[in-house]
Amino acid sequence: MSSTTDNTTTDDDATDARPRELLQAANVKKHFPLNEGLIDRLLGDDRVVRAVDGVDLTVHAGETVGIVGESGSGKSTLGRTLSRLYEPTDGSVVFDGQHIETHSGRELRPIRRRIQYVFQDPMSALNPRKTVGQSVARPLEVHDIASGDEKWKRVADLFEEVGLGPSQLDAYPHELSGGQRQRVGLCRALVTEPDLVVFDEPVSALDVTLQAQILNLINRLQREFDLSYLLISHNLNVVRQVCDRIAVMYAGEIVERGATADIFENPQHPYTRSLLDAIPQIDGDGTRADRKGLDGEPPSATNPPSGCRFHPRCPEFIDGSCPGQKPSLQDVEGDAGHEAACHWLDRSEAERAAHTPPSTTEREVIRSESADD
Ligand code: ADP
Ligand code: MG
Repeated sequence: MSSTTDNTTTDDDATDARPRELLQAANVKKHFPLNEGLIDRLLGDDRVVRAVDGVDLTVHAGETVGIVGESGSGKSTLGRTLSRLYEPTDGSVVFDGQHIETHSGRELRPIRRRIQYVFQDPMSALNPRKTVGQSVARPLEVHDIASGDEKWKRVADLFEEVGLGPSQLDAYPHELSGGQRQRVGLCRALVTEPDLVVFDEPVSALDVTLQAQILNLINRLQREFDLSYLLISHNLNVVRQVCDRIAVMYAGEIVERGATADIFENPQHPYTRSLLDAIPQIDGDGTRADRKGLDGEPPSATNPPSGCRFHPRCPEFIDGSCPGQKPSLQDVEGDAGHEAACHWLDRSEAERAAHTPPSTTEREVIRSESADD
């Protein structure tokens, strides 16, 4: 792996206190056939959706890594591939020292216990005809962890841990509120005592007050149970509250990553800056300030733009380089473990000062040209 995030040392590391690498993904790709139909295949339509297109990522033990990006950037597909709900099209996934990218059937069983994926909609993971207590208890049987009284004791303890009462063990999913269901989802993920939990938009369906409660709970559970987290969200405020490091995804690729503070205080990729600009700000008088959103739509995942995939929407587009060459992730000077993939990182201050960014109209032209490719 070429990632400097994984090789950087700080003073603390001299004592070898560096946490171990729990999950390491290298050049992971997940492509889906665009058309599943036999006719299309027979007609030779073998186009693919490049949902995840060459991702390197490491999660250390005890760490929370965030993945952010607009809808459709490939976050869920990456999370599912790293959890081995999907088999990667290419690349390697090493979990606790073991290659798991081609594991199947029986080999995957211990992985299913040790890596838990919490779905965006907790209802989808719960059987509507079973009590939530039964749903949480089920993995204990499936994985031969506990049965009988021991099983129910574990489930009741977990319910208490996440702030659910014993009476809720016998409730059906539809009888619970959104926040309670999300707590049940957490119990179901934690009951197998996993090492890694992947959260997919864990609080998107909840109002802001509930979001804060659930995020606090997620933080507390991590310390109590010694967990590592991968947390997916389109909401930068959410990842800011819980993540140690953040990776920013655009069109199936990681375009910037680093410590949370560095991403927020020293963002280098124009896409990251656009996302930060788009965070709603509340003005002094309590009204929402105007958001400087992003121009244009996310690109086609079947036929992504050449060079830097963000170039058709980039406010800092450089003619020639940006559509011509794909920038690779490189170190951001001064920030340990901070990397960005942008041609501007190679340019001098003088070049930056002399650059005239394209106008809104010019950018529209760039976008329509790239769409014609
Ligand atoms: P995100 O979670 O960031 O919103 P997704 O991973 O859900 O992004 O989707 C990334 C891209 O892959 C999108 O273009 C989406 O339509 C496509 N995609 C996701 N899952 C599938 C699938 N099972 N089959 C085909 N295309 C898919
Ligand atoms: Mg998603």
